Amino acid sequence: MNSIPARMPRVVIVGGGFGGLAAARALRRASVEVILIDRTNHHLFQPLLYQVATSALTPGQIGWPIRNILRRQSNTTVILGEVTGVNKERTRRSGTSWQALRTAVRCRSRTTT
Ligand SMILES: Cc1cc2nc3c(=O)[nH]c(=O)nc-3n(C[C@H](O)[C@H](O)[C@H](O)COP(=O)(O)OP(=O)(O)OC[C@H]3O[C@@H](n4cnc5c(N)ncnc54)[C@H](O)[C@@H]3O)c2cc1C
Repeated sequence: MNSIPARMPRVVIVGGGFGGLAAARALRRASVEVILIDRTNHHLFQPLLYQVATSALTPGQIGWPIRNILRRQSNTTVILGEVTGVNKERTRRSGTSWQALRTAVRCRSRTTT
């Protein structure tokens, strides 16, 4: 009789931009379950936005579905959704706990006066 495999640690990554994708890829061979959540279904290559603005490229040439980018990464699930907050207590009680959280939703600089 097969024993039930121990559940792998779960890593939640918020954001599928450069930071989030780099974090997910770095974990591709790790013995963890990766869940990447983004509020859009695509990764946007922002440095080429200017070329779209000037019609040198089409929007489709600078955006790719995140699921497609990570399709070969068997330990990763991509979820479409907006993260509005983190409630550690609730996730623990509901059994959907995670062991690590990586936010990659882009930092905004703030000017202090
Ligand atoms: C026009 C332009 C040109 C640029 N050119 C260059 C360049 O030449 N060289 C360079 O180094 N950098 C350049 N940058 C900057 C570079 O694009 C950013 O530094 C980089 O995209 C930041 O990566 P990131 O992963 O932190 O955030 P992002 O790439 O912005 O990704 C953040 C992701 O998080 C998701 N997200 C945000 N909030 C939530 C939420 N609450 N719930 C779920 N998902 C969420 C977003 O949908 C997005 O997919 C440029 C930026 C722009 C706009």
